[in-house]
Amino acid sequence: MKVALQNLTKTFPARGRRGDVVAVDNLNVEFPDGKLVALLGPSGCGKSTTLYMICGLEKPTAGQVFFGEDDVTALPPESRGVGLVFQNYALYPHLNVRRNIMFPLENLRGKVRPTKAEMNARVEEAARLVQIEGLLDRKPAELSGGQQQRVAIARALVKRPRVLLLDEPLSNLDARLRLQTREEIRRIQRETGVTTVFVTHDQEEAMSISDLIVVMREGALQQAGRPQQVYDDPDNLFVAKFLGTPPINVFEGRVSGGHIYIGSESVLDAPSLHDGEVYVAVRPEGFIPKNDGKLTCALRAVEVMGRDVSVVAGHDASETGRLRAIVAAESAVDERAETVRFDLKPNKTLLFDKETQRRIRMGERT
Ligand code: ADP
Ligand code: MG
Repeated sequence: MKVALQNLTKTFPARGRRGDVVAVDNLNVEFPDGKLVALLGPSGCGKSTTLYMICGLEKPTAGQVFFGEDDVTALPPESRGVGLVFQNYALYPHLNVRRNIMFPLENLRGKVRPTKAEMNARVEEAARLVQIEGLLDRKPAELSGGQQQRVAIARALVKRPRVLLLDEPLSNLDARLRLQTREEIRRIQRETGVTTVFVTHDQEEAMSISDLIVVMREGALQQAGRPQQVYDDPDNLFVAKFLGTPPINVFEGRVSGGHIYIGSESVLDAPSLHDGEVYVAVRPEGFIPKNDGKLTCALRAVEVMGRDVSVVAGHDASETGRLRAIVAAESAVDERAETVRFDLKPNKTLLFDKETQRRIRMGERT
């Protein structure tokens, strides 16, 4: 089931002296049928509010939610066919796992209510999918965090929803379980083929398992696309900085006479661009150490990481005063040297307008 948001807006009324909060600001985006989509952005950018408007727990101030061709904006949550998993699982502590998963079915009334035997079959199917068949008689308190999260996902799946919504489902798990559970979510999504929207503030989590990422900031859409595409080709400086670890290195620079300068050094050619101040942003993998490299930096540290080496260097034009380059272990960087010089890979060097912070694409006239 394709989900589309049209001009979706949510304003919360002012509290105290603060003005109204625009939690979601005229959002237009489509979640394609059968895909796993990550809604990604920093805390407070409106991800949960967007999710709750998709499932019907929050009423939009303006705009519409479509499931396929149907406008569901006015439908109550229980009529939308959505499964929702919260960050804190919200299991019923006094019910065992079987009854927790069955709960949404027991709430059904009339013709749609399955028989007890059907309910049990559906619970077992959902439990199998998330691999907790052996735990059906336990109480939530007798489960690990990861197992509780699986129960919550099974409970969301038991009604065979058209759309599965997950709000920061991994944030209460420890690092190892987070890795494992995110793979699980990917597998479950593939097996069920259910359109899934997965909210996270963790870019690595979003990049690693999603078909599509939708990046938000202050309630507004920044960019949507395949993870690699958004990483390689960000539309603005915020998106460029939000994706990638180590983060992109940002320098104050300028374009002059068809060359890109960082400080006084001409680091790349840009024959089609107009002169002006720019941000020059370089991915950590965009630096090539070279004795006669075009960018000269003060060498601070060379950190061996096995396959790669991380070079930490200082540069006055860098936003943070420093940069971090990831280079192949065999590229010789003399760790006793005072300076290190790099050439920059053109496809890993991104320019942004100094005023608007929008991307200036090379080969594109500004
Ligand atoms: P996220 O999930 O991305 O962290 P939220 O959607 O929870 O962000 O919140 C977006 C903004 O809306 C925040 O500024 C938050 O404080 C505000 N907000 C969310 N829910 C409410 C509410 N019920 N009343 C008032 N403000 C709210
Ligand atoms: Mg949230």
